[in-house]
Amino acid sequence: MPTIPSNIVVYNLITKRPVCFLSLLSKSIKFYVNLLNCSIFRLLSTSTSKNMNYVEKVRLLDYWKIQDSSLQNEFPRSHLVLMVDRRLLVTKDTPDVKMVEHSYGDLKQLLGEYGLQFDLSNSCLLDALPADNDMIPLFGTSIEAADPPEDSPISKSDVLKQLGNSLGGRFTDIRMAMLTMQEERQRNLLAKFQTLTKWAATYRRCPKCAAALKMRTSKSGAECVTCQKVYYPTFSPVSITLITDPTNEHALLVRHRGSAGGVFTAVAGFAHSGESMAECARREIAEEVGIEVDLIQSLDMSQPWPMPDSSLMIAHVAIAKMDQKISVCPDELETAQWFSRQQVRQALETTLSDPQLKKLPRTLDDRQTLHYIPPAGAIAHQMIRKWVDGKIDFHNSRI
Ligand SMILES: [Zn+2]
Repeated sequence: MPTIPSNIVVYNLITKRPVCFLSLLSKSIKFYVNLLNCSIFRLLSTSTSKNMNYVEKVRLLDYWKIQDSSLQNEFPRSHLVLMVDRRLLVTKDTPDVKMVEHSYGDLKQLLGEYGLQFDLSNSCLLDALPADNDMIPLFGTSIEAADPPEDSPISKSDVLKQLGNSLGGRFTDIRMAMLTMQEERQRNLLAKFQTLTKWAATYRRCPKCAAALKMRTSKSGAECVTCQKVYYPTFSPVSITLITDPTNEHALLVRHRGSAGGVFTAVAGFAHSGESMAECARREIAEEVGIEVDLIQSLDMSQPWPMPDSSLMIAHVAIAKMDQKISVCPDELETAQWFSRQQVRQALETTLSDPQLKKLPRTLDDRQTLHYIPPAGAIAHQMIRKWVDGKIDFHNSRI
């Protein structure tokens, strides 16, 4: 490693502050590389942030992730999206649901009028946004609102409704937001927001030595104050598989216990240690619906999903062996049935015409009938739609 005199100080063009390279080297080689890259790319580039390329953006995000003081300096310039009591602020009166963004100053003022505050402790770094001749961070901030006094004539939900209006949106359930957001970027940012918020609230002590963890400002990692081990937000891989018959004219869909009435979907489950995703899909199908499959093929589609815990859904299609009868796992499923392409197409059209599933069946029998598939924000919807439209090609990748 080259020796760098301690009195060499460079001017970092991102933080606008002088930087001593030697102290940085002693902390982390990775940090040094990032800093060097970030400084160099700013020095070499004559571009403005409006045409900052992807590589430059991800390196800036990587820098902010680990450099607490730089990110803290950026906080007053940032934009933020908001959750209050784990309900997300989204646009209202528009068919395409999106998170509502505010500048730091506007949000501070608007929340202050309701006696609410936010700071870096309950905020996580989500993205970097172009702004004039620079980039600014996008944070997600999650706050809790106190209950009104018992004798208050106004309920908490009334207050949140009013707050939503003042903030130019409405508060909604995170699951429904994930299911109804049309833009993949919006869904993925929300998944990151929910995952980092939950992880930062849970990871307080080192699993190895039980000392306190020091959380990064970005919430992208936490370091043990005693043994210095660094921990990162965790997520679990999940296989989700659309099962067809050998004619490819029928699909086997399932209804989970506790799911909304009349909604059928694909088979999904967590990967176990030591399994490939194809092995996971094969086992989950056997466990949940009691059949074996001849072929499992990746659909080259995946989706981060933050509930109940953080997971990455990875899509497959499988062709069932037809010599076995369906036998559902009663702990997880209410039913599993074969449906024709036309029946599934009808459910797809019903779902597209009622994306918030407002006309769900109420009677017990009707709840067991295929009316809906998951809304468009779910990867299951995209997979089923692809199959209905005949856009899945099988290419003999047998298990
Ligand atoms: Zn430790």
